[in-house]
Amino acid sequence: MVTVAEATSIIHQHLFLPGKERIKLETTEGRILAETIKADRDFPPFDRVAMDGIAVPFKSFQEGWRDFKIESMQAAGQPRTSLRDQQNCIEVMTGAMLPVGCDTVIRYEDVFIVNKIAKIKIESIEKGQSIHPRAHDARKGDILLNPGNRIAASEVALLATVGRAEAEVLAFPTTAIVSTGNELVDIRDLPQPHQIRKSNSYVLQAALTTMGCRPDLYHLPDDRNVLEKGLSKILADHQLIILSGGVSKGKLDFMPAALESLGVKKLFHEVSQRPGKPFWFGAARKQVVFALPGNPVSTFLCFYRYIKPWLLKSMGAETPVAYARLGIDFSFIPPLTYFLQVKIKNEKGSLIAWPVEGGGSGDFANLKDVDGFLELPADRYDFKEGEVFPYIGFRV
Ligand code: AMP
Ligand code: MG
Repeated sequence: MVTVAEATSIIHQHLFLPGKERIKLETTEGRILAETIKADRDFPPFDRVAMDGIAVPFKSFQEGWRDFKIESMQAAGQPRTSLRDQQNCIEVMTGAMLPVGCDTVIRYEDVFIVNKIAKIKIESIEKGQSIHPRAHDARKGDILLNPGNRIAASEVALLATVGRAEAEVLAFPTTAIVSTGNELVDIRDLPQPHQIRKSNSYVLQAALTTMGCRPDLYHLPDDRNVLEKGLSKILADHQLIILSGGVSKGKLDFMPAALESLGVKKLFHEVSQRPGKPFWFGAARKQVVFALPGNPVSTFLCFYRYIKPWLLKSMGAETPVAYARLGIDFSFIPPLTYFLQVKIKNEKGSLIAWPVEGGGSGDFANLKDVDGFLELPADRYDFKEGEVFPYIGFRV
């Protein structure tokens, strides 16, 4: 048996080496960029009018001129026009090119327009005001994004602006989710009294798909031979294998033995934690295997506590540890790290964690009322209101 810290450290010594893939811009959010993105032109590409109003030569205003005759109108999306007479102006719209001969924009709020004459209402203006100058934000060729940058909506904006309909991102390993257990039936089937529908595979699939990883789903029975044959094929075709069930002490829990006989080296079995104590972890030459206990909350917790940070770390992205404050006193006697199910309230910038009743490892119906887990250390049993502990949230 290893501690939670030891399990984490062993898992992080077995990172995978990500490949690259090109994906559509629309699907890049949350992914990690694998290429350098440069500005394909200046940002902005021309002196951009930043307010609706009139464009004038500043010199004319400085010399005392206040009534500017409107010569024409320059709208966004029109080729650049020119001012003919220094004592005139051009009406300009936000997003338009600044007309040739003008260097300053005065917004509509600061002028009266009577008979096509714009009269300036204000005493002073600044040269160049209300203009977003060409190349102010970036020059053509400047680096905008680097490999390793995590793509959020803000990065999607940059990719779109430089005309990238596709981007190269780090690829996830080929992934298999395997449920085991003779009591499990498909979600479309009507279970007999002794059966239940399998939910873990879909939970894991949902959590992985959100990250951009598309796993293949399998199911194997509690039969040593069939299990081993099935696993052998799955191992040949995948780099990451997430199993649920069959790792405990039951007579039909064949998973650890089957994996080892297929050449997957055990790196630990059992972690001093609740839920998820029977967790088994191993690796072969090209595969990493997380064999999680089948109890739905155990599977769930192990994914967010171990597998998700492992995936991100493999791609060069650390998972920052979040913390929350215990809302009331709480006790947990066994010498195990306890992942307490909590509901979170944000009070004046501080996360307060309220324990949620129920919360056994099989009680996944409870998870709908839970935001995450508070990680209470194994070497203590009394935890006081106001104390701060690591928090693993799953509703991001
Ligand atoms: P095991 O780890 O195989 O001993 O399973 C522990 C408990 O989790 C049993 O009550 C199983 O029926 C349940 N279980 C195992 N796999 C799944 C699954 N894929 N979906 C829902 N429950 C499961
Ligand atoms: Mg089982």
